[in-house]
Amino acid sequence: MRIGIIGGGLMGIALAYFLTEAGEQVTVLEQSAELGGLNGQLAFGEGLTVARYQHAILPRDDATRRLCARLGLENELVFGDVQTGFIHDNRIYPMTTLRDFFSFTPLSFRSRIQLGGALLQVRRRGNWESLDDVPVKSWLVKASGAETFERIWRPLLETKFDGAYETVPATYVWAWLNRMLAIRRPPRFNSSVGYLRRGHYSLIQALADDLTARGGQIQTQVRVREIIVADGRLQQVRTHSGLLEFDALVAAIATPVFARLIPGADKTYLERLSREKYLGLICPVMVLDRPLSGYWTLNLTDPNSPFSSIIETPHPEYNGYYIVYLPRYTAPDNDWMGVSDDDIREAWLSHLRQLFPQMASKDPLHFSVSRSRYVEPVYSIHDTEKAASAQTPYQGLYLANTGQVYPQLPTSEAVIVQAQRVSRLVRQQRMMPAAVLS
Ligand SMILES: Cc1cc2nc3c(=O)[nH]c(=O)nc-3n(C[C@H](O)[C@H](O)[C@H](O)COP(=O)(O)OP(=O)(O)OC[C@H]3O[C@@H](n4cnc5c(N)ncnc54)[C@H](O)[C@@H]3O)c2cc1C
Repeated sequence: MRIGIIGGGLMGIALAYFLTEAGEQVTVLEQSAELGGLNGQLAFGEGLTVARYQHAILPRDDATRRLCARLGLENELVFGDVQTGFIHDNRIYPMTTLRDFFSFTPLSFRSRIQLGGALLQVRRRGNWESLDDVPVKSWLVKASGAETFERIWRPLLETKFDGAYETVPATYVWAWLNRMLAIRRPPRFNSSVGYLRRGHYSLIQALADDLTARGGQIQTQVRVREIIVADGRLQQVRTHSGLLEFDALVAAIATPVFARLIPGADKTYLERLSREKYLGLICPVMVLDRPLSGYWTLNLTDPNSPFSSIIETPHPEYNGYYIVYLPRYTAPDNDWMGVSDDDIREAWLSHLRQLFPQMASKDPLHFSVSRSRYVEPVYSIHDTEKAASAQTPYQGLYLANTGQVYPQLPTSEAVIVQAQRVSRLVRQQRMMPAAVLS
């Protein structure tokens, strides 16, 4: 079967890998010159590359670990202890160990105990369905108290959802806390995270090498302009250089992009797709020749900060180089998306220098701004059906994206699991007689 895949991000490349491994003929069509999408990398010259966006592998990311092992990358995977903390009123408060938690003075002792109880509740809670109708604010205020909500949760939610968190279900914070708490190991509850020694892009590269060695094709700088559907099935794919035909096509792209590519689809289906909303992201990355804070993650509680957190890691390959990410999530109408890179650099560095005065005397070695319009689907308590499923109403046409991993967070781990599911779905349907499908 000839299978086309639109998108050479992790979802598209992992899907192509699983399908070629199962013996299918696969062609990946990627609009950019490089693969990777959100998992892509930036080149600063003289061989220095860094991941476009920060990326960590957590100890329980089993699908990622298994995939690395299958690709011969198991020895490249390194885990180590990291420090985490908060910046509150321009001061760093560590939050690495249980002791740090109990010494966290921005909260009263009573609130700390209440917050500890809420965290335990989250870890023990198996079912998330009952949280899906509850607004995140009411649940957090009830579970951890009003003071903790105002001082900690409100600023974190404001920056994460760019102010629009009122209708976000409590399920989001349940999934986030579970992922974050899973990196903590008793008895001190310190955090352990992993990375690939040659950078996260080495996973994309290894998948691409493996699938092309099995006969799969990857075409970069090919932008799909239209997916033509008619008579209830996939017909053709239009690119700038002409029409392509496949027996099956998987669009491994965000739902709003997919909706724009199928203008000929049924109106009800297009209306269904248009309900899916995404957060965007602006994320400057800096390369420094010394550590900034020594913390892996610092979350900021200051609502006036242009960035929501500071994520720092030593460069995985270049000794003595440190990479710092300063992300800001954006709602679709956020003005920052239209601001020039130079102005972003000035605003971000000026705030960073207030927090770290030692930065004032020295410019970073490199500074680059990345932006992505569709990084994370956002759901509301009112959405009864969260995401469009992989199966579209058109025979031979599938959709695969992070919207479908709900209630899990849209991580690379969840993407790999979903890519495996969709590859099985595509292959199962190939084996079904047409009468069953129609
Ligand atoms: C800031 C940030 C930090 C993250 N940190 C972590 C982390 O620590 N751990 C973790 O596990 N996960 C993390 N993630 C999540 C992870 O990076 C994503 O889940 C994953 O990269 C999503 O991959 P994707 O292929 O679904 O989407 P994308 O990467 O968006 O891929 C879509 C691809 O489709 C291409 N495309 C779009 N339209 C067309 C078209 N018309 N024709 C051809 N090609 C097209 C795009 O160019 C792109 O390459 C993070 C994400 C972000 C944004």
